[in-house]
Amino acid sequence: MNILIMGPAGSGKGTMSKKLHDEFGVAHISTGDMLRENVKNNTPLGHQAKDFMETGRLVPDELINEMVKERLLRADVEKGYLMDGFPRTLVQAKAFEDITKEINKPVDIVVNLKVDVDTLAARITGRRVCKNCGAIYHIKNSPSKVEGICDVCGNATVQRPDDTLEQLQVRLKEHTTNTEPVLDYYREKGLVQDFEASRPADEVWLEIKQAIEAIF
Ligand code: ADP
Repeated sequence: MNILIMGPAGSGKGTMSKKLHDEFGVAHISTGDMLRENVKNNTPLGHQAKDFMETGRLVPDELINEMVKERLLRADVEKGYLMDGFPRTLVQAKAFEDITKEINKPVDIVVNLKVDVDTLAARITGRRVCKNCGAIYHIKNSPSKVEGICDVCGNATVQRPDDTLEQLQVRLKEHTTNTEPVLDYYREKGLVQDFEASRPADEVWLEIKQAIEAIF
C-alpha cells in the first residue's frame, strides 16, 4: 500500500502518519524529519538545507529528490511507503513518478488534510517537540506532564525555529504556490481524498482508516 499524505503546516500530517505506520506497517518517510536529522548531525546536506528550513522556504528540488530516491531503495519500503511532506513541488512530483515506476510502486491514494488558517496558527505556535526523541506536544491541547520536559525520554522540549507566526506565513505561501498544483496533478489522476482535519485527531483518523480499508 502506497500512500501520500498532504496538507499545510500544522494540518496533522505527523500525527496521522504515525497512526498509518502503526496500523498498516508502511514505511513513514518524512522529508522534514530527514532534513532535521541532517541538520542535527551537521551533514553536508544539513548545511545546505538549514537556512531554507529556518525561514520556512522550500529546500531546492535536486537535494530533496536525491535524498528521497536513496531512502526508497531501503528494505523497509517492501510493504509500501507513506510519503509525508513530499512531493511538495511539480518538479518533485515528476521525479517521484519516475522513481515509483523504477521500483514498481505507484501511488494508491493521496490523503489530503484540510484545515482553516486560524486553527493552523494555533496548532503551530503551541507546538513543542522533544529535542531528543521527536515526541510532539501542544501547550494547550496535549501538554507534557511537566512543562518543558518530554514524557517519553525526560529531555527538554523546544519550539521548532520555523514554528512562529512569521515563518508560518511563508510556509503557507509556499504551500499555495508550489504544493497546491501538486494536489491538482494527483486530483486529475483521481487519487485524492479530502479530509476535514480541523476536528479532533481521533475523528479524523477514523475516517482516514476507513477510506484506506475501503481501497485494499
Ligand atoms: P511542515 O510542518 O511545514 O509540513 P515539514 O516538517 O514537513 O514541515 O518540513 C519542514 C521544512 O523542511 C519545510 O518548511 C522545508 O523547508 C523543508 N522541506 C521538507 N520537505 C520538503 C520538500 N519536499 N521540498 C522542499 N523542502 C522541504
